[in-house]
Amino acid sequence: MQDPNLSRRAFIGSTVIGCATLGTHSATAGVEERNAAFEFEVQRTEGEWREMLTDEEFRILREGGTEPARSHPFWESSDEGTYHCRGCDLALYDSEWKVILPMGWVFFYHSHPTAVITDIDASGPMPGGTGPAISAACRRCGSHQGHIVAINREVLHCINGTSLTFTPSTA
Ligand SMILES: [Zn+2]
Repeated sequence: MQDPNLSRRAFIGSTVIGCATLGTHSATAGVEERNAAFEFEVQRTEGEWREMLTDEEFRILREGGTEPARSHPFWESSDEGTYHCRGCDLALYDSEWKVILPMGWVFFYHSHPTAVITDIDASGPMPGGTGPAISAACRRCGSHQGHIVAINREVLHCINGTSLTFTPSTA
């Protein structure tokens, strides 16, 4: 069943992004200029982030770190519900899009529409990877979630359990 609230939120999100694109981006704007125009809706100082996160959560969410494989219980969970951003509580993923893989992070086929933004990871390619690594972050607060990876020709979101909170379905 499609959650009507979700559809509405997704629609509003798309509209806002559409307007922002029309208003601030011209076809001739350089990459730097376009990046400068983007501001996360949720902004916190480093002190505020450190107050709400543990050291390990800060390392992953705010510094782009990666948790050790199989260190967070979400990787092998098949509970039904919604995964939210630990940094701002935005709903990012539903359990129905989750796939359990032995690598030991939290894998999803996709996110909620407009919930996750991607970028080239400045720290370089994934271990064993040939191209640049693509990082995934919450679009509302910018917290690092993980990476977009290709496994067996399937594009997946490979996410740190540490970056997420889980709300079980009530049904
Ligand atoms: Zn967030």
